[in-house]
Amino acid sequence: MKILIYLSVFMSLQMCSQVKHPEKVKNMENSAAKTNPYYSRTDRTKLTVTNAEWKKILPADLYAIAREADTERPFTGKYNQFDELGEYYCAVCGNHLFRSDSKFSSTCGWPSFFEADKEGVAYHRDSTLGMERTEVVCKRCDSHLGHVFNDGPEPTGMRYCMNSVSLEFVGDSEKK
Ligand SMILES: [Zn+2]
Repeated sequence: MKILIYLSVFMSLQMCSQVKHPEKVKNMENSAAKTNPYYSRTDRTKLTVTNAEWKKILPADLYAIAREADTERPFTGKYNQFDELGEYYCAVCGNHLFRSDSKFSSTCGWPSFFEADKEGVAYHRDSTLGMERTEVVCKRCDSHLGHVFNDGPEPTGMRYCMNSVSLEFVGDSEKK
């Protein structure tokens, strides 16, 4: 975690202020790929699936972001203005990533969290685009989720800046 913090010091791509008022609530349909044989919300076994295979399974927008580290346009993601209570899973493989309690209203245009599931995410150094950033990936399937910066709110001071496309939300009311 120390390395992560050091790496993050100068890396903020967008400065975001934190707004405390609640976000607007919208109902969302889950879009977990029904034909994805690797998708599981309980199995945390590491996946080794080739991009050629993922390309056959995933929708084009998810493939571009998750497997080619593309970024969705700011203020367009389905979870940017969204504050329902529930869990966020990897849209590629179903691995648990975030709890809604750690989501905060950020002005940067992407869904933001101050804490991730430690068993859900892993980190890579990202030196692309002339910046030093810390990429956040799914620990199970190694898909790109977004980046983490150290300008987030308490208690962690971290800001996980995520792509909505990479996330799958399941509300508490939907739990069986
Ligand atoms: Zn995953």
